[in-house]
Amino acid sequence: METYLPSSSRYVRCSYNRCGRSGLKLPMISLGLWHNFGDVDVFENGRSIVRYAFDQGITHFDLANNYGPSPGSAEENFGQILAKDLKPYRDELVISTKAGYWMWDGPYGEWGSRKYLISSLDQSLKRMGVDYVDIFYHHRPDPETPLEETMMALDHVVRQGKALYAGISNYSAEETAKAAKILKELGTPCLINQVKYSMFERWVEDGLLATAEEWGIGVIAFSPLAQGLLTDRYLQGIPEGSRASKSWGFLQPHQVEPALDKVRQLNEVAISRGQSLAQMALAWLLKDKRVTSVLVGASSVAQLANNLGALDNAGFTNDEIERIIAILNE
Ligand code: NDP
Repeated sequence: METYLPSSSRYVRCSYNRCGRSGLKLPMISLGLWHNFGDVDVFENGRSIVRYAFDQGITHFDLANNYGPSPGSAEENFGQILAKDLKPYRDELVISTKAGYWMWDGPYGEWGSRKYLISSLDQSLKRMGVDYVDIFYHHRPDPETPLEETMMALDHVVRQGKALYAGISNYSAEETAKAAKILKELGTPCLINQVKYSMFERWVEDGLLATAEEWGIGVIAFSPLAQGLLTDRYLQGIPEGSRASKSWGFLQPHQVEPALDKVRQLNEVAISRGQSLAQMALAWLLKDKRVTSVLVGASSVAQLANNLGALDNAGFTNDEIERIIAILNE
């Protein structure tokens, strides 16, 4: 690939939302590297997607220690993309990583101990070849480790300068409030909660969004397209190369068929709005101002380009809202 020079108009396309009551702004659409960036994937394809994203003003790239497969390989590949293309623009990037799921054998390779979190972040920094990440997340609540210990580990890495902000992921409303209180007392406010939120997964509407707002915490929605279900990807069956077709894909083939009836109806609404279903599904989440950003995945530049189109038609009429809610509640 030729030497990368980012587009000079890269800050025209995206808008940026303040993350809770922090000083940090995030693009309304962020890019996640959970799938499509591992050592099972084509490196140059991932590289094109990241370059395109940055050209469009997507400044936020989300990783975790275990993304791949193999675990760690997405961070390694992202590190290579940084080294080849984006290193000069480090100060324009918000890079996040996480620890919480299984990463290595033995009692210190997952969950929420100080031992695990600090070692894992050190490994992530090496794999990506960076001195610090912008956001370090605890990836999932740990029912056994005292929350104080986990939050102290986040506070510690922020004070060390290995992370600029602390985040939590997959924390319920109640767990979020507890974590936020501890972090506040420690002097490192909780920046953000990364949660599963889409038209098909709406648990955050029952308290989590309100709690986040109360504590001044941003919310970033992961799998906002329900891993591709909320697009036109599966309308004609399961295509070769799609996430549901891959042995390592987290979307299982048996999850596709039961969703299709609603997907077809939602697709009709999207067409009547003159946009793709993916665009409508993203706009639907972004209409709630408590949602800082939607964190999409993409297996091609074309998909990401399509998703960015959500920003062009983000409003909904009352009639559209009623139609959509009726479909979702069926
Ligand atoms: P999405 O719901 O956005 O699904 C992305 C997938 O949908 C793509 O890989 C692609 O699938 C398909 N797709 C995307 N855009 C389009 C389009 N316009 N038209 C048709 N198909 C499309 O998000 P992910 O599930 O990938 O999650 C996004 C990010 O969220 C992750 O990368 C990760 O950073 C984060 N995450 C965090 C978790 C946590 O526990 N904190 C858990 C899961 C994700 P295909 O490959 O079939 O082309």
